[in-house]
Amino acid sequence: MAFYKEMTLRTSYIGKGAHGGDLLGEITDFCKARGITLGRVEALGALVRAKLGYYNQNSRRYETLEFDEHLEITNLVGNVSLKDSQPIVHAHVTLANDRGIAYGGHLVPGCEIFACEFVVQAFDGPQLNRGFDEQTGLPLWNEE
Ligand code: ZN
Repeated sequence: MAFYKEMTLRTSYIGKGAHGGDLLGEITDFCKARGITLGRVEALGALVRAKLGYYNQNSRRYETLEFDEHLEITNLVGNVSLKDSQPIVHAHVTLANDRGIAYGGHLVPGCEIFACEFVVQAFDGPQLNRGFDEQTGLPLWNEE
């Protein structure tokens, strides 16, 4: 059964990630430093190299894809919630190469920032917490 929770916007932030920084690490650290445990994230920019996750639904394991090339971040969309009482950023990205060919996947550590402009929105409302989901094997949101 699907569920949802209603929340309100507390604050919006707009900023720049550090050249040479790790994309997921920068966003996660930004949220942790401001106590953001519920929110949404978006970003664009460019990467020096990238690593993406692909969840294999049969094996129930993440496979890792590595791209040792310069890529545009044409889209990053994600959310912030809690897992094991720690803020966790779950984001997916679409990246394009020098021919405009796009790759996409689950954002994991290993994406080195060339340039990054991000928006983080912090919400007030009932906290969303991640826990093991039997149906998928993923750390999805618990209903309570
Ligand atoms: Zn994902």
